[in-house]
Amino acid sequence: MGEVLVLNATYEPLSVVSVKRAVVLLLKEKAELVEAAEARLRSENLTLPVPLVIRLVYFVKIPRRISLPVTRRGVLSRDNYTCQYCGIMPHRKALTVDHVLPRSRGGKTTWENVVTACEKCNGKKGSRTPAEANMVLREQPRRPRYIAIAALSSIEARQAWSKYMWD
Ligand SMILES: [Zn+2]
Repeated sequence: MGEVLVLNATYEPLSVVSVKRAVVLLLKEKAELVEAAEARLRSENLTLPVPLVIRLVYFVKIPRRISLPVTRRGVLSRDNYTCQYCGIMPHRKALTVDHVLPRSRGGKTTWENVVTACEKCNGKKGSRTPAEANMVLREQPRRPRYIAIAALSSIEARQAWSKYMWD
């Protein structure tokens, strides 16, 4: 069974729950269906579309932002396994994690300072900044709200979620 993205009443991503939990929230009318898969859930007395994204009817106050550790897997997933300099999508093993501001220059391992780079681009850039190496980032690196998307295997769910995943 898949996972369902739960949005706050304000449409901000809040958490990820199981399909079973999402169905309970929908049946109790605590949430409404925002995105559904084409597949349907069937039980003795009801048929429901499989939820992909639901939205809580009532606003839930979020105490603080959840911090996500920076991992190779997370960075590659965030960047869609694409080199952020030249745009190629080589085999995953040929991808590296590049510090935009090099570590030797005080660059930190934060979501905002690491990007996916192919071996060639990483080697070319070396210990320079993109500007010094005359290389352009395709996208400014950002902190993902929910890395759980990395664990999703279903392309349908990824697409449905992606609209809500970024700040
Ligand atoms: Zn490259």
